Amino acid sequence: MATVAIPACTTALLLDIEGTTTPITFVKDILFPYIREHLEDYLSDHWEEDECKQDVHLLKKQIEEDTRQNRARPVHAVDQTVHTDEEKAIREVVDDVLWQMAADRKSTALKRLQGHMWRAAYSSGTIRGEIYQDVTPSIRRWRGHGLKVFIYSSGSVEAQKLLFAHSVEGDVLDLFDGHFDTAVGAKVDAKSYERIAERIGCPPGEITFLTDVTREAKAAEDAGVNAVVVVRPGNIELTEEEAAHYHVITSFGQLQVTGRP
Ligand SMILES: [Mg+2]
Repeated sequence: MATVAIPACTTALLLDIEGTTTPITFVKDILFPYIREHLEDYLSDHWEEDECKQDVHLLKKQIEEDTRQNRARPVHAVDQTVHTDEEKAIREVVDDVLWQMAADRKSTALKRLQGHMWRAAYSSGTIRGEIYQDVTPSIRRWRGHGLKVFIYSSGSVEAQKLLFAHSVEGDVLDLFDGHFDTAVGAKVDAKSYERIAERIGCPPGEITFLTDVTREAKAAEDAGVNAVVVVRPGNIELTEEEAAHYHVITSFGQLQVTGRP
């Protein structure tokens, strides 16, 4: 197995999740279907609770906002199986959420509710965060060499923490020194990596970023961050040019950090 040596000046590793630490299918085939399948039951069970009321309130505000801006909205069909006002209200929220998910909307209201549903699913053990087998042993090895390890994912920091706190290997949250999500900026924007370096408190050149997406690797490089592209089963294949330009690994085990002081 060919190894890829990271620059000797590296002090921090920054990891993407989807397609890097975790199969892309985990989000697509487990997390999102979970919402679609359990949404109505979740709302019925928690309808009277404050947190759920706030989530619904946010969604309603989003609907009002969309209507004001003449954005397309789902049409609520008259459903004869729904009787009480509560059932009707729940059905409307369900329609709205499913519609937003189908349209791939990234509204805060949607993310908030999804986050709360996933939290419940993780804590009950219904869902466990998937991690590739080479991930935790490698991170432990890197940490043994004095490197810091951070996560940068488009999933919210809360969602990232849930995944690693309730993973197939148990709670591995202590492997990370910090988490970043798109609150710091888009992953394809070089500025985001500059901000992350600032927050970590080191020059961009001391960071090595691992991702499956070459556009993200490019943005990181533009900021002066060292990028390594991770190829996992099911990831988008690299073009010949990309494969020639980037250091590519198929397992974290290939990353060589020895030789550091
Ligand atoms: Mg990714």
